[in-house]
Amino acid sequence: MSRSEPQLPERTRVACLPGDCIGPEVMAVATRILRELAPDLELEDHLFGGVAIRATGDSLPDETLEACRSSDAVLKAPVGDPEFDAADVRPEQGMLRLRAELDVYANLRPARKGPVDILIVRELVGGLYFGARGVRDDGTVFDTCEYHPSQVERIARRAFALARARRGKLTSVDKANVLETSRMWRRVVHEVATDYPDVEVEDMLVDNAAMQLASSPEQFDVIVTENMFGDILSDLAAAMTGGLGLAPSASLGDIGPGIFEPVHGSAPDIAGRGVANPAAMLRSTALMLEHGLGREGEARSLEGAVESALRDAPTPDLGGRASTSEFADAVVEALAR
Ligand code: NAD
Repeated sequence: MSRSEPQLPERTRVACLPGDCIGPEVMAVATRILRELAPDLELEDHLFGGVAIRATGDSLPDETLEACRSSDAVLKAPVGDPEFDAADVRPEQGMLRLRAELDVYANLRPARKGPVDILIVRELVGGLYFGARGVRDDGTVFDTCEYHPSQVERIARRAFALARARRGKLTSVDKANVLETSRMWRRVVHEVATDYPDVEVEDMLVDNAAMQLASSPEQFDVIVTENMFGDILSDLAAAMTGGLGLAPSASLGDIGPGIFEPVHGSAPDIAGRGVANPAAMLRSTALMLEHGLGREGEARSLEGAVESALRDAPTPDLGGRASTSEFADAVVEALAR
């Protein structure tokens, strides 16, 4: 009889990228909370951004990319440092490369406040930001919006699946009265809709969507839209539900790990003072638990604890006096309740 070695359970690995300026300060809070909430997770720090340029000359060193690829999720703090503003190699270049390498095409931007509970699903790797661009002989400069139907199909499927798991309503935002890409977008969304008969789908032109978001945001559940429209609408939704400083994001592909990161930057003006607000980092951590690791219960607990810390221990950017670590203490206390 053959005897096999006892199998050790696979550990769930999170690649943590602390980044620059306030990045390590808010990442330290996220790892502290994860050790309380999900002690079985294996958390590993890796060089990324300005700190990686200083150490290796590259904002996304090979070793970091490999560690991200082989992880179950990437938890990323902001990168960027004024030191590199005029440099050829900049921290933000690594960010775009990491997204491309992991093929994370679906950017999720939740926006919640009172009766408003919106999830914007933005296509992240196509459209105007990635189409042909250049300068013609006569000096005309152009950027083109390009989409292949398969790119639209995969983001639409992702959005329908997310809407199905929420309140079952999907708003597809386009500019089909003007743009060819939008007409194709609309056609593909309705083809995909036949696989999700339980989800109510509506089309909305982007100009109307901006107005509706500003005037009656509670009507929306999930919004799916192309790259640039999503870029603008998600910032509008964030501004209306507490500001960019509180906004989390998740970027997901079909296979491989997603990237979970706050929307705000590295805030060099307050770095090292211990006053950075870690709420967006923690909300991104909750998105990671839910969408990256399938641990919805822990995600809900963390979201609730962040809400109560925002009430009990607001940081100076919110008009309060709590330090970063006092905010973290309030989260830990709320988790224990
Ligand atoms: P920023 O978001 O860093 O800061 C804007 C303002 O918001 C500042 O006054 C800052 O103090 C405040 N702020 C931001 N986050 C905060 C927090 N968690 N707590 C308290 N206050 C906070 O934007 P910026 O100044 O335009 O950019 C700074 C650097 O960040 C630049 O190098 C930029 O390229 C980079 N950046 C990185 C990312 C990213 O890594 N995803 C995103 C945006 C900007």
